[in-house]
Amino acid sequence: MGRGVRARARGAPAETSPARRGISGGTPVTAQMQAAVLYGGHDLRLEQRPVPQPGPGEVLLRVAACAVCGSDLHAYHGSHPRIRFPRILGHEFAGTVAAVGSGVSSVAPGARVCAEVDLPCGACSQCHAGRTHLCLRLRTLGFDADGAYAEYVAVPAGNLHPLPPTLSFAAAALVQPLAVAYHGVKHQAGVATGQKVAVLGTGPIGLGAAAVARALGAWVVISSTRDARLEVAQRLGVDETVNVRREDLVARVLELTHGEGVDTVIEAVGGLQDETLQQATQIVRRAGLIVVLGTFPSKRATLRIAEFKDRELAMRGSRGDHQAFGPVIDLLASGAVDPSLFITTTLPLDQAGPGLQMLDEKRAGLVKVILQPVVTG
Ligand SMILES: [Zn+2]
Ligand SMILES: [Zn+2]
Repeated sequence: MGRGVRARARGAPAETSPARRGISGGTPVTAQMQAAVLYGGHDLRLEQRPVPQPGPGEVLLRVAACAVCGSDLHAYHGSHPRIRFPRILGHEFAGTVAAVGSGVSSVAPGARVCAEVDLPCGACSQCHAGRTHLCLRLRTLGFDADGAYAEYVAVPAGNLHPLPPTLSFAAAALVQPLAVAYHGVKHQAGVATGQKVAVLGTGPIGLGAAAVARALGAWVVISSTRDARLEVAQRLGVDETVNVRREDLVARVLELTHGEGVDTVIEAVGGLQDETLQQATQIVRRAGLIVVLGTFPSKRATLRIAEFKDRELAMRGSRGDHQAFGPVIDLLASGAVDPSLFITTTLPLDQAGPGLQMLDEKRAGLVKVILQPVVTG
């Protein structure tokens, strides 16, 4: 806290005191901010925007780091199912509380935090059952509301998690995607010490799932088409890697498990599910579990349904980062998961467009692009 956060000078925006803007805060907040605004497919514009006002129960966050997600890329291509334009993307972020709206006492200006991105209604049957991530009227920061490809973002105070002093903002921007992996691996798959887990896919979520499963004490095999990503997986501590371009995944996993198969398969490819889910049914043991973490671009896949019956297989979905921020912050702070292996590229906010393109081109050696809207001292 109090690390001398300062906004970069951008065209001398007028300073307005927080008190005059009807919110309480310790640091002067500029009236205008720089933001990367998506107006449609491939139409990302760097603009001056009014700094959002934190409403009742909200805080204004000065964004120190915002990671670029694969779903941002879908939005950038104009193919995200929910997004309406214009929109400020960005749902994997961390920063410093700049001001708080009325009624907020849980956090004070200057606090270093990261934030959950779901905006549940709080009133529907799923919210009442505690499954706010499955809210019937769920909205999400960065898609249904403006996100953190900007110097400031307004966030409900209840979404915030304080950061240990040792955790960098860039590492804290990884908490959300790692929490997505954690929810799948721990809550939905129930992975525990001694279990055998196969992770299909080495995107950030697949790598995160493998790292979390290892941290939970599981034996982990991971598959990919990319050697560079398999090397990252090895450095994260996975036990076995399979490049499916060169090796038969099913034969290899059965060989590694003495013909029985793994206890759990985590599907995290995010495409080609017609292929990967069939492989999953072949490498999971009898009475085993398949958890689907990857997104379904085609929204359907063909399953060997007889195998589900005859071998008593089960399949579960996993959505979002529900109740996983705290455990993930602990995993990062304790060193059980090394964030530096994910943080391959950091860019200023005005390079958001090139950052998205780098991700789109699947540049070798790149895992996560981290934007740094506000330079921190
Ligand atoms: Zn994401
Ligand atoms: Zn709800």
